[in-house]
Amino acid sequence: MFNLFKRQKKNGCPNCYDKNTISFGADYLESKFISSIHLTDEIGGIKIYECEKCKTQFFKDENLYNKIVSGQIELLKEWSIRNLVCPDDIKREIEKIGLTNDWMLDKIAPCKIKLNNGEIYELTTVLFTSKPPLGHYYSMYKNIFFIDDIRQVSESKFGISLEIRQQAEKSEEKRMGFYPTVLKNKEGTKVILNGISIFFNSNNIVGSDLEFANEEWNHREKYIYDADDYEEKTIVIALK
Ligand SMILES: [Zn+2]
Repeated sequence: MFNLFKRQKKNGCPNCYDKNTISFGADYLESKFISSIHLTDEIGGIKIYECEKCKTQFFKDENLYNKIVSGQIELLKEWSIRNLVCPDDIKREIEKIGLTNDWMLDKIAPCKIKLNNGEIYELTTVLFTSKPPLGHYYSMYKNIFFIDDIRQVSESKFGISLEIRQQAEKSEEKRMGFYPTVLKNKEGTKVILNGISIFFNSNNIVGSDLEFANEEWNHREKYIYDADDYEEKTIVIALK
């Protein structure tokens, strides 16, 4: 009798029912689903899970299942065989630019890079992490390189100074997901840096032009916001 009132568990996984799923907890999976997720592979020490029903692959970060985006298995294989230790000369250049925390508490710096093949990328996040290059975070980048692809690192004109980035880490949330720091350029044009952003590129104003405006964000005032649609959005992965 009691069972009639119990909500029935669904077959499969959360992604079977919502393709926008990014991650979900193992406890949620257990309580709401008759899970069709099984361990199918291990690459570079990372266990790969797959839903039998929707064929989506996942990796686990502690208690969370995170969706693996198309193409990331190849990237993971590459990651597992690369030399990800940052060479000392490149490390010194990056430390001059300065490392700050990203939202996963890994270290990042805004850089201009030159690859071993001579290609140059001006909007590059160099990331020091011990985690594999999997999940939604990496799908935001157009180019993904590893530290052993890099010949040279220098300051990016789009990069925000270390002093501003350190201050911006402490900014307060004013609206949901909005952590403004008010900055200005030499002409006094005011712009907003949101949270732990490390680049600025909008209306011909670039990160290296910016300094503190020394005032609080005011919802009545007009500001320039970062375009955040860089065509070149690039990330370089090095071992923490
Ligand atoms: Zn599924």
